[in-house]
Amino acid sequence: MNIHQYYPVDVVNGPGTRCTLFVAGCVHRCRGCYNKSTWRLNSGQPFTLEMEEQLIADLNDTRIIRQGLSLSGGDPLHPANLADVGRLLRRVRRECSGKDIWMWTGYRLQELDDSQRRVINEINVLIDGKFILALKDPALPWRGSSNQVIHQLR
Ligand code: SF4
Repeated sequence: MNIHQYYPVDVVNGPGTRCTLFVAGCVHRCRGCYNKSTWRLNSGQPFTLEMEEQLIADLNDTRIIRQGLSLSGGDPLHPANLADVGRLLRRVRRECSGKDIWMWTGYRLQELDDSQRRVINEINVLIDGKFILALKDPALPWRGSSNQVIHQLR
């Protein structure tokens, strides 16, 4: 999997203070996408084991308490990202007790296949759906357009 950005301390993408990872690869091609540079799977840089270790360490850092991890992109549920995202999330569950996991995807919850559903079994909150320019609303918390839904999964 490739990634575009990793913010070890982020207060914008989700509640509280978080670690946020933007992955590469998205098939949705939304008009008005804020992040077109992430569409290609081979854009950005490889997500290495060292980066994964750092992310786990950051989540467990007691000097700056993180509420959890946010995963965006690109699309963390792109079929090519599922193996790596799934492995990362299982590690966060196992090694970062008490941290919540938020995820943004262009797919709708109802249309996820079995392998995507296995990945979201690990998360707390899914914000789903494409960005629709005609429904854009900057006042919405954590969403770009009003068709997108915040699903509290656990
Ligand atoms: S789902 Fe997100 S990253 Fe993908 S095209 Fe739409 S707005 Fe851009």
